[in-house]
Amino acid sequence: MSFKSSKISSFRLWGLLLTMAGMGMMILGTAGIVFWGHSGKIVAAIGLVIGLIAMLGSLAVYFWAGILSTSAVQLECPECHKLTKMLGKTDRCMFCRTILTLDPEQANITADELEANQSATLH
Ligand SMILES: [Zn+2]
Repeated sequence: MSFKSSKISSFRLWGLLLTMAGMGMMILGTAGIVFWGHSGKIVAAIGLVIGLIAMLGSLAVYFWAGILSTSAVQLECPECHKLTKMLGKTDRCMFCRTILTLDPEQANITADELEANQSATLH
């Protein structure tokens, strides 16, 4: 997976991956019955259990992402001027993936400086 996306986006990606893995396991398990007949039922049972756990896991990830996004700070991105959400003190913009920070010590450029730079290059 890409680490260059915002935290909320990567949570959603993991949730989706877990859901797909869970469904895949259930389908494979059911296919086990078709291919191996009676003995395939054990494979099917294991597949269903693992699939169910993966699905529950994805639900937990989605739930967690939901809680996190309510506590996320909403702000206008200084780079692309779209409304984005950030988690914690440092996160990436959901649209242009610029690294944003609320910590003045970690920032190497302020929003005002960026604004000044942008208007300087435009003119
Ligand atoms: Zn942006």
